[in-house]
Amino acid sequence: MNVLIIGGGVIGLAAARELRVAGAGRITVLEKGRAGMESSWAAAGMLAPDAETETVDAMYRLCRRSNELYPEFAAALLDETGIDIELDRTGTICAAFSDDEADQLRERHSAQQNAGIQADFLSAEDMRKLEPSLSGDIVAGALYRDNGQVENRKLVQGLSEFAQRNAIEVIERSPVDELIIKNGEAIGARCNGRIFEADAVLVAAGAWSSVLLETRCPRVTPVKGQVIAFENYSSLRHVVYGAGGYLVPRRDGRLLVGATVEDAGFNTDVTADGVLSLRGSAERLLPGLAGREPVDKWAGLRPFAVGGEPLIGAIPGVRGLFVATGHYRNGILLAPVTAKLITEAVLAGSVPDFARPFLPASGKEAAAS
Ligand SMILES: Cc1cc2nc3c(=O)[nH]c(=O)nc-3n(C[C@H](O)[C@H](O)[C@H](O)COP(=O)(O)OP(=O)(O)OC[C@H]3O[C@@H](n4cnc5c(N)ncnc54)[C@H](O)[C@@H]3O)c2cc1C
Repeated sequence: MNVLIIGGGVIGLAAARELRVAGAGRITVLEKGRAGMESSWAAAGMLAPDAETETVDAMYRLCRRSNELYPEFAAALLDETGIDIELDRTGTICAAFSDDEADQLRERHSAQQNAGIQADFLSAEDMRKLEPSLSGDIVAGALYRDNGQVENRKLVQGLSEFAQRNAIEVIERSPVDELIIKNGEAIGARCNGRIFEADAVLVAAGAWSSVLLETRCPRVTPVKGQVIAFENYSSLRHVVYGAGGYLVPRRDGRLLVGATVEDAGFNTDVTADGVLSLRGSAERLLPGLAGREPVDKWAGLRPFAVGGEPLIGAIPGVRGLFVATGHYRNGILLAPVTAKLITEAVLAGSVPDFARPFLPASGKEAAAS
């Protein structure tokens, strides 16, 4: 089975790797720019299936499953490519700054406990012991023990290296103009005036997926996120949410602060307002940052599908056409499980029951329901 993948972000590249491991034939990835340089590069790399939910639903199970796949996935990539993606499962903390916020956190914590989600409620003193550099104004917190982060830029670098070493052709600066569909079957795509033929075509084009898929599945739109980074900050060990933002301490001493959530079309400009609000969150959480200048700033586009959940599987009504997109704020977390599911869908023509909620309905069906 020869597979054509459109989009060389974390989802397209992880799918390519899994397809290769599972024995697919020729695998080609067409990337309009440079592989891994869009949302997958802009992300903060948090793996946080528990910190933001209170409900054990299909999306939660998908996120948990992917989080559990990460240690094996990271070890395999290291073995295959020599690239360490810096998987860190020290834990993720949520911080509350007022009695109201502490009450909300306590309520969420008890809902999580009832649902079977593991979390520890922390007093102000627990928080100070765990992370002494955090603000003394923090009155309570919650700790999610096996949540954490990866260095997402090394992840895409590792997946690109795997592709290079394993006969996966990644063709950069190659924007696909249109899918070629004949008699209800996807047979390839047109790109730079050339037709690339394949037995299966996978659209993994992130925030741009609907440009190609049109109404064949629910609409995917871009949601802009800005991030700033400080350097030489090594006094924080956990990922921390609070004060309207989050902090992600990297192994090399960089500290990422994210992220805005904006409806700005495909614009990726960094704005003064965005930076100001991120600096505000950062300084509230870590007063030691006051007066320090960020060394880097960037923005990326999260792929958001109508309904907020990813679309993973076969496109209804077109044989040989598949999609893996709409991962919104969780594409780094969901890359390993998405790669496995889409590989089963492409090679075996089926998906496991737990993935059924993410099968794409056509755009028209989704609009009607
Ligand atoms: C600021 C920010 C913070 C984030 N933080 C986190 C986080 O902490 N944890 C987490 O799990 N997720 C996070 N995310 C979300 C995550 O980055 C995305 O869900 C994920 O990267 C999506 O991967 P993708 O491969 O679908 O998209 P992308 O990485 O955008 O890749 C899609 C690729 O398709 C290419 N493409 C598009 N159209 C075409 C075409 N016509 N022809 C050829 N190629 C095409 C693009 O150039 C692009 O390279 C964050 C996102 C942002 C923006």
